[in-house]
Amino acid sequence: MSLHERDRSLVWHPFTQHGVASEHLCVSRAQGAYLYDEHNKSYLDMVSSWWVNLHGHAHPEIAKAIYKQSLTLEHVMFAGFTHEPAVNLCEQLKEVLDPALKRFFFSDNGSTAVETALKMAYQYWWNQGQHQRTKFLCFEGAYHGDTFGAMSVGHSCGFYEPFKPLLFNVGTIPFPATWSMDDCVDAKEAHALAFLDNHLKAHHSHIAAFIAEPLVQGASGMRFCRPEFLKKVVELVRSYNILVIFDEVMTGFGRTRTLFAYEQVGCAPDLLCLAKGLSGGFLPLALTIATESIYESFLGETFTKALAHGHTYTANPLGCVAAIASLSLLRSANCMEARKMIEQVHYQCLSDLVLKHPRLKAPRINGTLAAFQFDSSDTNYINPIAALLKAKCLEAGLIVRPLGNVAYFLPPYCISEDELRGAYATLSEILIGLDTSSSLNSNQHALREEACDTIATESLEKDSVLFW
Ligand SMILES: *Cc1c(COP(=O)(O)O)cnc(C)c1O
Repeated sequence: MSLHERDRSLVWHPFTQHGVASEHLCVSRAQGAYLYDEHNKSYLDMVSSWWVNLHGHAHPEIAKAIYKQSLTLEHVMFAGFTHEPAVNLCEQLKEVLDPALKRFFFSDNGSTAVETALKMAYQYWWNQGQHQRTKFLCFEGAYHGDTFGAMSVGHSCGFYEPFKPLLFNVGTIPFPATWSMDDCVDAKEAHALAFLDNHLKAHHSHIAAFIAEPLVQGASGMRFCRPEFLKKVVELVRSYNILVIFDEVMTGFGRTRTLFAYEQVGCAPDLLCLAKGLSGGFLPLALTIATESIYESFLGETFTKALAHGHTYTANPLGCVAAIASLSLLRSANCMEARKMIEQVHYQCLSDLVLKHPRLKAPRINGTLAAFQFDSSDTNYINPIAALLKAKCLEAGLIVRPLGNVAYFLPPYCISEDELRGAYATLSEILIGLDTSSSLNSNQHALREEACDTIATESLEKDSVLFW
């Protein structure tokens, strides 16, 4: 029996409709930016294996760190025990985080990091006798993971229809999704802020925390907002004493043009959630990082005030040393150069792409992330153009995974300039085959050309341009 047949008889895959799913790709090994199948065909990993891989697959530094650690201490329970890898990791992260973020709580994936943050925020108020603070605020379209608390604050991302009756109630603010040359952004932001203002006036005393993916909503389609807007939201929310949770599970570790997206917003959260890239994509590891005042609200003589939460693989030493090795690669000059190169190539190639393909719209870039939309009314997660694009790319040796009508590139930082340009060229050829280049009249075409030129020159001139 082939691996595919053995898999099909036993395995239930995530986010997969097995009733219609095509064959799963059998990956036998991976190296750098490439995956290799059983026939040794290579595939450029343009989605960093679901946004986890930072420095390339099978990176020797990270692999060696894990091997070495596993000969010394592979795991120990973390209640009543501690170890060097965990403490070292916290110390090193502290150096790159805002000084207000001081207390590190470990778990093992993005959803648990979010659950922990929600529970900390709620109990922070409960411990101070404010038992009425039972509500959370989130953005429309947010995604925070697939466990129940995370689903509740991510209820509108489009994945949870069957579970709606089981989710807790949250306040949902409109999200002013924007892109390059978006004429309506001011109006959308003003509407969202007015909505928030009204909502806060009516409900603030019941709200424990506001949660958001800063600057980019990942799973609901790489939807961007402007940093100035998010800053206003945070200021407004904080004026009512409500805690702020940033979920940087996707945006963290240099995916956007700063190490953490909150740096562009200009304000640190009270609780920060990290996972995915934390271990460089090697092992499941997550952190919820709190301010000292949140931590202090849990101190007391009895257990009632303590955080009754923990996962058995908390602070796994192998995950911790992988994270330390990954962080040191991330902070190297090489890696910073590489991330800059990726952003520059995105600016040039994505402008060219939308110019060549008039049916592509809403291009947007922040750091190593570039996304665009198909001009199609069908925004479902399972989208016909998207499915076709994914299949054609796979044939051409390129891993992409569109979200509804949105396609994006989020490559590992080890990708070379030629590889990245090559990926854009392949994508462009495939899009020609999918007929996205048809029919704009000459006037529309000229306008578009002008818009794209502005984008390209602005990005090259201004080192401080945040996104478009
Ligand atoms: C992926 C993701 C999560 C969930 O992480 P898991 O490790 O899959 O549980 C939470 N928040 C954001 C922003 C994510 O992108």
